[in-house]
Amino acid sequence: MRRIENIEVAWIMNEIADLLELKGENIFKIRAYRKAAKIIANLSDDLPVLIEEKKLETVPGIGKAIAGKIKELFQTGKIQYYENLKEEVPAGLLEIITIPGVGARMAQELYGKLGVSSVDELEAAARARRVRDLPGMGAKTELNILRGIEMLRSGVGGRTTLGIADALAESFSGFLKSLPSVEYAGVAGSTRRMKESIGDVDLVAGSHEPEKVIEIFARHPQVKKVLSRGDTKASIVTLMGVQADLLVVNPDQYWSALHHFTGSKEHNVRLRELAHQKGLKINEYGIFRREDDQSLRVTGEADIYSHLGLSYIPPELREDLGEVEAAGEDRLPALLELSDIKGDLHIHSDWSDGANTIEQVAGRAVEMGYQYIAITDHSKSLGIAGGLSKERLAAQGDYIRELNGRTDGLEILAGIETDILANGDLDYPDDILAGMDIVIASVHSGFRQDREKMTGRVISAMKNKHVDILAHPTGRLIGRREPYAIDMDRVFEAAVKYGTALEINSSPDRLDLNDRYVRKACELGIKISINTDAHDTVRLEEMKYGVATARRGWAQKEDIINTMDRDKLLKFLKRRG
Ligand SMILES: [Zn+2]
Ligand SMILES: [Zn+2]
Repeated sequence: MRRIENIEVAWIMNEIADLLELKGENIFKIRAYRKAAKIIANLSDDLPVLIEEKKLETVPGIGKAIAGKIKELFQTGKIQYYENLKEEVPAGLLEIITIPGVGARMAQELYGKLGVSSVDELEAAARARRVRDLPGMGAKTELNILRGIEMLRSGVGGRTTLGIADALAESFSGFLKSLPSVEYAGVAGSTRRMKESIGDVDLVAGSHEPEKVIEIFARHPQVKKVLSRGDTKASIVTLMGVQADLLVVNPDQYWSALHHFTGSKEHNVRLRELAHQKGLKINEYGIFRREDDQSLRVTGEADIYSHLGLSYIPPELREDLGEVEAAGEDRLPALLELSDIKGDLHIHSDWSDGANTIEQVAGRAVEMGYQYIAITDHSKSLGIAGGLSKERLAAQGDYIRELNGRTDGLEILAGIETDILANGDLDYPDDILAGMDIVIASVHSGFRQDREKMTGRVISAMKNKHVDILAHPTGRLIGRREPYAIDMDRVFEAAVKYGTALEINSSPDRLDLNDRYVRKACELGIKISINTDAHDTVRLEEMKYGVATARRGWAQKEDIINTMDRDKLLKFLKRRG
């Protein structure tokens, strides 16, 4: 029988928890298995040793029943209880719960009520509009399921969004770090540089036992197919079709390898040239003096840059877009950090097409440490998204003011995301807009207008002194919809002239403004607001992708309005009416 690693036992414990959840079993039982999985993944001793020394039961968090099953696994090579569960629960359900937003409870409901037991069947049911009739679900849930399936199957011509790649990369690097044979592990490639779309996920690990690491990587439960495999590297495809490549190097070469495979290629070419001029040589194994091949000390990426006479260049800037020159002259920008963000100014609630109540959104915002949020539901023209009538908008404003009175430490701004109508008018008259704490304007229809018309339409909205922010300025959906025809130079000119802030929409589907536009906007002194446009509280977390896009655009804290403290922001919003 081959050796069973601790991490594999942890995977089994997690899968048992998933199966129990799909069966609708007792929550305490499910939690016990999840907890055991976590503990086992982080044990410093091998399980066979603990069993041998009769210490397994004494590990806190591993009860008698679970300890018994682990012993059974090491004695017989399987756990009968687990085998039985796998018999009882259709395998396709385990795949269904990997779709973002579909939990075990929903999968159970879909199976019980619609007989859905695979991703394909779920897609068919959603397309036939059979999901929306189930209790607690609706057209929105149905759409989210379809989008989840579509995204995970990567409709981007083999590319995937940053959101999916980043989550996957973080989970794999966490797994690699948990292996006792791994000293270092991290994410490299375009995912680390936070590019807007990702071909495959690159991982690097430092270990003295590369074969062992490769072996276990290939057995990870997320792996659908192993594309290639050698002693020190492997390429796999995950269950949902994303390719991930792992390279394992000697620990003392880890930083050089991580740096090299982070790229970009163009950035690396520039560094090689610079090294050459300085009598050095740089590659994935290290940095060397050319005269005697003596390697220079590298205990982190900063060492690599300092050997080259450069200040440290963060991954998001490594594109050969002037960062090497700037680092040589010590004039790299002090990039914006996620922790600089004080609030989120574009959020939907269940007053329009959001999934959560304003209280739930506010609760999450407090947990995130925000000073303020803006509730900006859709305006009346957007009927399909439950756009607010004049009356509903006024009622929402009253409600938010009342809520503000009893919410400590968080300012909730009563806002609106008003449609820019085809002729450039906004969806409400000025006297209503004047009463709002914040007004966001955006295009949601008539995407096919010609460039002249679209540009004029957007600029006439920016001209309105009540409009604070132009949201998702180009309207693109990455990999799914091209930007509409719009002259961004003129939009920038208008932003300068009228003082309208431009949004970086943080949704990994949008990232709009993109990095190039951000850089230009910052150079022109245009103010930017980084917003999630979240339609549920989970997506408030996507702020990090907006911040990453801002960093790729060389943005500093001062460029971003939602880094301002509450009072300063309120003053900023008031200045135009
Ligand atoms: Zn919008
Ligand atoms: Zn929105």
